[in-house]
Amino acid sequence: MQIVATITETRCIIQKARNEGRRIGFVPTMGALHEGHASLIRAARRETDFVVVSIFVNPTQFGPNEDYQRYPRTPEADWALCRREGVDLVFSPSVEEMYPPGFCTWVEVTRLQDVLCGRSRPGHFRGVATVVLKLLNIVQPDIAYFGQKDAQQARIIRQLVHDLNVPIEIRVCPIVREADGLALSSRNAYLSPQERQHATVLYRALQLAQELVNQGECDTSRIRQRMVDLITATPGATLDYAEIVDPETLQPVAQITGPALAALAVRLGSARLIDNQLLIPQTSSVPGVRNEAQSDI
Ligand code: AMP
Repeated sequence: MQIVATITETRCIIQKARNEGRRIGFVPTMGALHEGHASLIRAARRETDFVVVSIFVNPTQFGPNEDYQRYPRTPEADWALCRREGVDLVFSPSVEEMYPPGFCTWVEVTRLQDVLCGRSRPGHFRGVATVVLKLLNIVQPDIAYFGQKDAQQARIIRQLVHDLNVPIEIRVCPIVREADGLALSSRNAYLSPQERQHATVLYRALQLAQELVNQGECDTSRIRQRMVDLITATPGATLDYAEIVDPETLQPVAQITGPALAALAVRLGSARLIDNQLLIPQTSSVPGVRNEAQSDI
């Protein structure tokens, strides 16, 4: 496994692999790697022949009062995980390599960037879209892998790739969870033992939403209210948002008539956690979509 910090070297190594006829799989990350990231790497290994992981804590997607400085940075453990998972190349650039002096081009995916997390994190998705397009241009993969954990991000990137004719395939992989349902996240490291226990409320609220749908509830304001009640009753938890939206437009839906995305952001102590689940009405059958609420986690 090679670990490189420059764009020139990354391009050169990947070009060699491409010349050998290998298909390139790419997993962009901010490091502090866990099983969620590993699941993307494994998907890339299954489908492609040369797997590139980028590790870059992207400053432009953090707001001024957010956690850029203290975001966990664990390069050695990350390299070990990548090695274990059979990654071929780790691209780990400096901030100066990605944003040299004079940098002034930004990518905005209008509308989709302004809802859900975009509302409480203005500028966040501009930073995400910009860095992801840069990374896709640097790596030029055949397939890039993202997690459904960041559902809005995945939706925005799909739109970006479509609108700007980026010639790659996008795969969105399922959310990897702890045994008690908490979605794996690098930010879970911020939780105290007690906050960690309370953090399952996101998953419990999403499960409750699916149960209500299973019982025939279609009115999203009632479902939303039950999620809000559960979250606000949790010690230390502050609701950022709880919404039920159209998975394509990310706009709120009033009635559940087909698959709808329940999306949550909750603050617990100094951590802001997000989670989501596709709510599937009993009558709707969506090929390939598994109804997680009916599993026995
Ligand atoms: P991050 O390092 O948090 O920017 O995440 C890098 C990629 O891993 C993104 O596409 C995330 O959606 C994905 N990811 C993060 N956590 C999970 C998880 N628990 N399950 C699946 N994918 C995840």
